[in-house]
Amino acid sequence: MLDRPSSREGWSARAAALVLEGRAFIDGVYVPALDGATFARISPIDGKVFARAADCGEADVDRAVRAARAAFESGVWRDADPQRKKAVLLRFAALIRENLDELALLETLDVGKPIANALAVDVPFCADCIQYYAELADKLYDAVAPVGANDVALVRKEPLGVVGAIVPWNYPLIIAAWKIGPALVAGNSVVLKPAEQSPLASLVLGRLAKKAGLPDGVLNIVPGLGEKAGKPLALHPDVDMIAFTGSTEVGKLMMIYAGQSNMKRVALECGGKSPHVVMPDANLDAAAEAIAWGIFYNQGETCHAGSRVLAHASIRARLVEKIAAVQQAQIPLGHPFDASAQLGAMVEERQMQRVLDYIALGVSEGARVAHGGGRALAETGGFYVEPTILDGAMNSMRIAQEEIFGPVVVVVPFETEDEAVRLANDTIYGLAAAVWTRDMGAAHRLSRAIRAGTVWVNAYDRSSLTTPFGGFKQSGFGRDRSPHAIDKYMDFKTIWTRYR
Ligand code: NAD
Repeated sequence: MLDRPSSREGWSARAAALVLEGRAFIDGVYVPALDGATFARISPIDGKVFARAADCGEADVDRAVRAARAAFESGVWRDADPQRKKAVLLRFAALIRENLDELALLETLDVGKPIANALAVDVPFCADCIQYYAELADKLYDAVAPVGANDVALVRKEPLGVVGAIVPWNYPLIIAAWKIGPALVAGNSVVLKPAEQSPLASLVLGRLAKKAGLPDGVLNIVPGLGEKAGKPLALHPDVDMIAFTGSTEVGKLMMIYAGQSNMKRVALECGGKSPHVVMPDANLDAAAEAIAWGIFYNQGETCHAGSRVLAHASIRARLVEKIAAVQQAQIPLGHPFDASAQLGAMVEERQMQRVLDYIALGVSEGARVAHGGGRALAETGGFYVEPTILDGAMNSMRIAQEEIFGPVVVVVPFETEDEAVRLANDTIYGLAAAVWTRDMGAAHRLSRAIRAGTVWVNAYDRSSLTTPFGGFKQSGFGRDRSPHAIDKYMDFKTIWTRYR
């Protein structure tokens, strides 16, 4: 094994030596798109083309779905003993860990996140997720219903068949694992469509799954654009379910595509505008630290980023100062290959521009830039945005209502607890929230009143595979993580036998 580089130059040299696989992974082999088309991967780190990936279209998707269907119908995976499923998936998780450096490097090259975070979080969490579901393989029981003495009604859960997983670019490996792990342990075949911004690390999963012993056709990976590859997957008449993570706008299309095709199931993990409610008695140091990490980690490209701070008017100014200080002391922006960088490049130029446009919009709406506010490291050619605080906003402003998906936190003052609840819920989203107070009565009231899939009390972004994750309202439905996630990849069947 190669030694892990410890410098920017070392990682750059390793990147230059990588053999990049951009072809689709279908039926156990890497193949180009049928028409040979490819698309360029532009590095967010320096704005240069560094790879090409197969530009898959309807015919490639159909090929992948047919491979997945054939594998499913053969029973080679669906009917495999639970112990075998467990062994294969445990080996898959182990191989992901063995290939930590390669996967982390690909993730950083694709999306611009700091290599330190890809090494410490993205790749290990992906492996942990596959392992978690592997370990559940031989611990799932069906049920026997209480019916008459001479009848036995088995309530079995059966896999759905072919699952299409369409995922975004912000945590490509983790979110892919959140779909692949439970879908595979349930016995389904999967066609994964990574985001066009982040195909490379995900494509490696195909090689590793095969090496682990996953039969050909059970996991297929088709890189490509949303309209060209994602849409035909979601419209495909032989796909039984789409597990989608991405924007609310595209999530809604998934429901349309399902209705236009075969009424396939849809599970949606979509956007958010998650609030922190900071009460006057809160521990402001703890709140500021969690707020800064919760919005600036991963360049703010996190669905449940705490992007809206509802601060009691009496502590708002002090809180804003503290958030800025935490960012300066703990979360430096830098070149993603620098070990010290905690905030890297935005995924693409368009996303950087969108974030800068939102900052300008906030100012024109009447908010004040209290920290950051501009482009950074422009001389590199890469797509960096300064961590930014927009203070003095109103919840009705677009910057407080729309998902910016960048390192920008919007601060809105409030006066009373009732007002805080009203503002927290005054959003189309409901992914996550936090409540900061020393008064446990207030914490209890607020956490019950806020409509969100996760409400943290005196914390933010604490997470575990053991807890379900997902949203209320237009943040989607269906949950990733925890044993509950498996249910959505299965259906109940009753087998009723009458004994005479
Ligand atoms: P996106 O909706 O643009 O794309 C997501 C995926 O959908 C990509 O693979 C894309 O290629 C595909 N796609 C786009 N148009 C499509 C179409 N017409 N038909 C089929 N597929 C299509 O989202 P994004 O920009 O990649 O990711 C950012 C969004 O994802 C944010 O809104 C963020 O909040 C959300 N997100 C949510 C969660 C969650 O768990 N709730 C997690 C991560 C990201």
